[in-house]
Amino acid sequence: MTKSIAINAGSSSLKFQLFQMPEERVISKGLIERIGLPLSQVTIKYGDDQKFELEEAIPNHEVAVEILLHQLEELGIIQSFSEITGVGHRVVAGGELFKDSARMDTDEDIQKIDDLAEFAPLHNKAEAVAMRAFKKVLPNVTSVAVFDTSFHTTMPEKAYLYSVPYEYYEKYGARRYGAHGTSHRYVAQRCAEMMGKPIEDLKIVTCHLGNGASITAVDGGKSVDTSMGFTPLAGLTMGTRAGDVDTSLVSFIMNKEGMTDINEMVDILNHKSGLLGLSGVSSDCRDVQAAAEEGNHRAQVALDIFVYKVQKYIGSYVAAMNGVDAIVFTAGIGENSSVIRKSVIEGITWFGCDIDDELNEKRGQDLEISTKDAKVKVFNIPTNEELMIARDIERLR
Ligand code: AMP
Repeated sequence: MTKSIAINAGSSSLKFQLFQMPEERVISKGLIERIGLPLSQVTIKYGDDQKFELEEAIPNHEVAVEILLHQLEELGIIQSFSEITGVGHRVVAGGELFKDSARMDTDEDIQKIDDLAEFAPLHNKAEAVAMRAFKKVLPNVTSVAVFDTSFHTTMPEKAYLYSVPYEYYEKYGARRYGAHGTSHRYVAQRCAEMMGKPIEDLKIVTCHLGNGASITAVDGGKSVDTSMGFTPLAGLTMGTRAGDVDTSLVSFIMNKEGMTDINEMVDILNHKSGLLGLSGVSSDCRDVQAAAEEGNHRAQVALDIFVYKVQKYIGSYVAAMNGVDAIVFTAGIGENSSVIRKSVIEGITWFGCDIDDELNEKRGQDLEISTKDAKVKVFNIPTNEELMIARDIERLR
């Protein structure tokens, strides 16, 4: 019996889930926010809905790790630090180097995460900082990095190369890397389990629809294409991200708006577009849905575009795999919005999927929501990236 902790670190935050393994039971979870700011906040949930909160100045990630472990001990969640035998870190960019989760035993290993920061400047640096902080406080435990990109390293060249001069790929690694890989991997595996078939025999389209959204074609358990690209800006319409646009639009709008800094435009595409930019209401799907129900035309169009793009990607991935056995919905919108799931499936019944309205209204559990006779099965599977991280710690121990 061991305890492992799954970490998702940002530049000023640290989310965690503590697991009892191999039972895969969550003992505690929470987050530390505003690290480095005058008043940081610690929230720890445990037991039967018990919650601990603390506000104090936490100058850096190392102190955050010390405070977190100390509090876990104080609250009796662990008896001593030594009970934690594994730490797993979510890492956004693994480039072409990391084709699977990997142990982070040495400073050189962690340096590789830093070196990949040009592919995810905001994330990898913070993740490396958190790894070093845990190493310092828990020097002898198994440390593992789990990459958002590694599941997609099985994509063939035809899926990951852009049609630009090949030398940019050779010189700079300019290619599609994708994201949300841990989530797509988890729900695809769970879908195969629920179908009672080996994943090697299945063609699955996984739809991770959250504030960030991506779709993956999983053929025989391997990612063969995914909608996010060099960065998570590509693909679907998202909360604030534009998804795919004609790149000529960038210079056209910059000229019209008198913008001279390309970063300003990229910021608009990342933070002011998507559901927010289209609707003018919110980036949050619930707000947009509520506005649409009240008759707000732009909100309705934003939702229509969101659904339409999901349908187009599913269609193209059915073509890419020359067939499909199952479609999976996951993440905030995919798991919770029966309206979006129904709208998506209603428009693509031509290849044999159909949704059961009663089952579609349920949520919060792994569910098959297609009708009995449907040729293509549809699932609603809550994602669990943290569990995947905990499992990878065990696998790489
Ligand atoms: P995530 O990034 O996975 O946390 O997902 C966040 C998104 O899920 C936000 O756009 C939320 O509005 C959306 N979401 C959560 N619950 C619902 C719901 N009941 N109906 C529609 N969207 C939801």
